[in-house]
Amino acid sequence: MTTEAPAILSTSAKELEAWLLSHKAPAYRRKQLWAWMARGAASFDEMRDIPKPLRSELGGSFRITSLRPIAVSQADRGLTTKTLYELDGGHSVEAVVMRYADRSTLCISSQAGCPIGCPFCATGKFPFGRNLKAHEIVEQAVDAVRMLSAEGKRLSHVVFMGMGEPMANYQAVIESVRRLSDPELLGISPRRVVISTSGLIPRIDQLGQEKLAVTLAISLHAARDELRDVLVPINRKYPVADLVASAQGYAEKTSRRVSYEWVLLAGVNDTERDAKELGTLLRGKRAHVNLIPFNPVEGTPYQAPDRAGVRRFRELVEAQGLNVTVRDTRGREADAACGQLHERVMRERSPVHVS
Ligand code: SAH
Ligand code: SF4
Repeated sequence: MTTEAPAILSTSAKELEAWLLSHKAPAYRRKQLWAWMARGAASFDEMRDIPKPLRSELGGSFRITSLRPIAVSQADRGLTTKTLYELDGGHSVEAVVMRYADRSTLCISSQAGCPIGCPFCATGKFPFGRNLKAHEIVEQAVDAVRMLSAEGKRLSHVVFMGMGEPMANYQAVIESVRRLSDPELLGISPRRVVISTSGLIPRIDQLGQEKLAVTLAISLHAARDELRDVLVPINRKYPVADLVASAQGYAEKTSRRVSYEWVLLAGVNDTERDAKELGTLLRGKRAHVNLIPFNPVEGTPYQAPDRAGVRRFRELVEAQGLNVTVRDTRGREADAACGQLHERVMRERSPVHVS
């Protein structure tokens, strides 16, 4: 199989059915094939209800996936698996599977690199690579399904919190969510999909028109423009008050609570002043605050707060009358947050473990 062959999920339902008809196969084979993809098929050959000659023709015309796993890293005693994939053209992205008692969540990438450049983020350290195509996003989920189904588990949630700014790759991200939620493909309810954004207001407004009702997460990190201009540079274009107004517009339209993410950077955004400003900004709104203890990234000037510091800030935010939780810190011991496996592999140029 040459690498030039298109990936099977890069074809739309219509295109695939047209291909099938032109190969004298009935259109319903497309549904069968998608059902196999939804179960995480790793080859056309295992699609037993598709006749063998057709399986060979499919194998001669398409690749099952365009993603090539180049490094895998485990953490949390096997509950967390990060995979670094090489894309066509040579860029790489990572995806993280997190297993919990009642669900399994995939943290997915939407871009190779990120054009936003937040100074605490590992992804922002590399030059921007390229936007992912919709099928490259969906293929990360199919691979997670493959991994989980071998363990008797299902993929239940997808969060766009890996590499990249999903709203800066809007069309492909929306197309991928439609495919993730398509009952004929992965069938993951949009409510169980979280799109996290640094705050591209026009795209948030557009998302509200899509009738998708995905969960929106805003990476706030600071409630005053002066500090957010530094931590999330896109703030210079889309300031805090306008951003929250846009996010609340989304909350009203979809009747969904917005999640506000706050990476805790010791001494930078964890003071009483920060909690009070956050209270003023969000009180009485359909909002939930999610505190994320900073995962240290080499070469950044930031430090993680200690446990007591995290608890103190949570209490300060609670005292403001806001709903607040502290995100668990999955994957810290190995390569920490999304973007960091990529960073280590790029630094060492020697994969941890090639699968
Ligand atoms: N670009 C999007 C989505 C990917 S980042 C966004 O910024 O929302 C997903 C989340 O991880 C964001 O809230 C981001 O601020 C956070 N994050 C980035 N680097 C981190 C780090 N080193 N430690 C903890 N959280 C981090
Ligand atoms: Fe991009 Fe998000 Fe990282 Fe900022 S935090 S550089 S927006 S991936």
